[in-house]
Amino acid sequence: MSEELDLNYFKKRLTVRYQSILADKKAQQKNSAPKQLDQTSVGRLSRMDAMQQQQMAKASARLMDMERRRIETALKRIEEEEYGYCILCDGEIAKKRLEFDPSLLTCISCAQKAENQ
Ligand SMILES: [Zn+2]
Repeated sequence: MSEELDLNYFKKRLTVRYQSILADKKAQQKNSAPKQLDQTSVGRLSRMDAMQQQQMAKASARLMDMERRRIETALKRIEEEEYGYCILCDGEIAKKRLEFDPSLLTCISCAQKAENQ
């Protein structure tokens, strides 16, 4: 690795983020349950609002789930001393990219290719 990565630093950030995702998930599950109950008391418009909110919550839950899985992989790759290398092309991931989001598993060019598909 030409650029020395401080693995402890990234591991710490990944772990902190991971725990906050798990906590968020728990909170979300708690919040989503009682919504069904007041269906009779809300009007049509606010019901649509509630549906929209639910959709958004679902979408963000999916994103969070993806991030959670990326973090799991990233942590595993730290253990295996593969962290910092792109899972697709094996090239180095720019340190700046990892500092921005330590859970990123691909280099910039692979990420761009994936986006353009
Ligand atoms: Zn790559």
